Amino acid sequence: MGMSIGVLCMGRLRSWRRRAAFLAVFVFLANIPDLQLPNWGHDRYRVSHSLFVNLAIIVGLAVVIGLWPRVRRAIGGWRVFAFGSAAWLSHLLLDSFYNHGKGLAIYWPISRARLVLPMPWFSVLHGGWSFDLNTLRIIGIEVIFYGGILAMCLVGRWCYFNRRRSTPIALH
Ligand SMILES: [Zn+2]
Repeated sequence: MGMSIGVLCMGRLRSWRRRAAFLAVFVFLANIPDLQLPNWGHDRYRVSHSLFVNLAIIVGLAVVIGLWPRVRRAIGGWRVFAFGSAAWLSHLLLDSFYNHGKGLAIYWPISRARLVLPMPWFSVLHGGWSFDLNTLRIIGIEVIFYGGILAMCLVGRWCYFNRRRSTPIALH
């Protein structure tokens, strides 16, 4: 999902290395809540997956970028920052789609309520990785779902950059 959102705001970067680096940053942003850091990640599910905690960090970064025009220009401006924030926060919504039934303590620490929007086709692996049909099914569904979203974003990007100006019709 991070890559899909990155594709929508990448602009015309000529070098494939810069494009790959740009999209890699968006993939990273979309996975920040799961980073294996002390007091963060799945060990501290409520903290790392709280909308308010993540928003507070994003607002802090916005202040830094707002005060530092050189960095703001280097990342591509506020538009890229906004899309990057969307990629980051998309993690929280997408995690609530899975059927592990835990839900997401998205409102922590203000509320203990959990966001649970399980989609019947999304599953999680119990007991780690194993190469069997169930694992292949889970991975296949993810590839189809997220790959489909990425394909739509790529097509949208292609249409945007290759749109023709409407040709005026000659009236005789
Ligand atoms: Zn997560």
